[in-house]
Amino acid sequence: MRVKFCYRELILYPPLRQIDIVAVRRQNLGARKLDRPARGPKESVEMKAIVVHEFGPPEVMKMEEIPAPKAGAGEVVVRIRAAGVNPFDTYMRNGTYAIKPPLPYIPGGDGAGVVETVGEGVTKLKPGDRVYLGHPITGTYAEFTLARESDVQPLPERLSFAQGAGVYVACSTAYHALHHHAKARASETLLVHGASGAVGIAAVQIARAIGLTVIGTAGTDNGLELVLREGAHHAFNHRTTGYQDAILKATDGRGVDVVIEMLANVNLGADLKLLAQYGRVVVIGSRGDSTITPRDIMARRSSVTGFTLWSISDADAADVKAGLAAGLENGTVRPVVSKELPLGEAVRAHKEIMEPGALGKIVLLP
Ligand code: NAP
Repeated sequence: MRVKFCYRELILYPPLRQIDIVAVRRQNLGARKLDRPARGPKESVEMKAIVVHEFGPPEVMKMEEIPAPKAGAGEVVVRIRAAGVNPFDTYMRNGTYAIKPPLPYIPGGDGAGVVETVGEGVTKLKPGDRVYLGHPITGTYAEFTLARESDVQPLPERLSFAQGAGVYVACSTAYHALHHHAKARASETLLVHGASGAVGIAAVQIARAIGLTVIGTAGTDNGLELVLREGAHHAFNHRTTGYQDAILKATDGRGVDVVIEMLANVNLGADLKLLAQYGRVVVIGSRGDSTITPRDIMARRSSVTGFTLWSISDADAADVKAGLAAGLENGTVRPVVSKELPLGEAVRAHKEIMEPGALGKIVLLP
């Protein structure tokens, strides 16, 4: 059976500056219908896309042929050459994430490719430009995606499309955590707790470039090797007993100034004991509750902060864009791609992103 699609329903990442589900739904309802006239040279183009009709396990994702989006005013259609696979894609697909998109939807929060068409008023981009993007209006697990001009950035020649698909979510998160939340300084020591994944590698690269002493953790020998290769001064295995003691020892018992934490439900309590005076933990990822000893915070005058990238302020987002543009240009920011899978293997990608043994970014190739 052929399902008729309407982009009013397929809009996935409504311009989500804040997680406000009611506003998101209102925005979606206001979004354009597929048949509304829009600018773009190609009429009635069909595309392959991964579509989710009901929340559930990876198998709810199905490859379908649906009409490609068209660019309205201020919007850009990008031909996706690689789509980033992020852990939150799986939470969203499960229906357990803070953002629950109206069904059906196309998954995928970032990607890279080539500008196909631009809508009225778009001035900074033109068809043929190599770009990376995030926060799209329609998901990136597709041959084409629709995004606002401001969410589409140039992709330097030195980066492949697969690397480009690893920029928006992972690198923005690392940059935002280090600069805006931790306010990290060159003389400080950083622990990237979970450094072998996409966000962790970006945090290691950026922190090392700024001048921090960087300690990273991974759960496999290959992961440890990768973390050291990408710039960490020390690497420890978070699956071995007593590794926290080794981290403290590496700081001569002083503790670390900043922790960028990928799995707070497991590590937050221990992180607080690893901090130096005035240390800061920035919670990036958590998959459950955590028990802490509040006196650890008091004794060190430390703090715990956290964020979701989707609620970043416009000012911080502009700062991140500028910082990443410089980092991509000068080679500081170099996304590491662990696996390139065909778009049709989205189910496998969602299973593998949740398995241990991360070595960078998993991407889907339409
Ligand atoms: P990823 O590529 O799958 O990496 C996951 C990382 O967590 C790997 O380095 C993994 O190491 C590590 N890890 C696994 N068990 C750990 C443990 N017990 N202690 C410390 N680290 C452990 O995922 P990602 O894209 O980097 O994202 C990392 C986390 O941040 C995810 O939970 C994601 O949902 C979250 N995130 C949040 C935001 C935000 O806006 N707050 C944005 C992006 C991502 P091994 O596999 O080597 O064991």
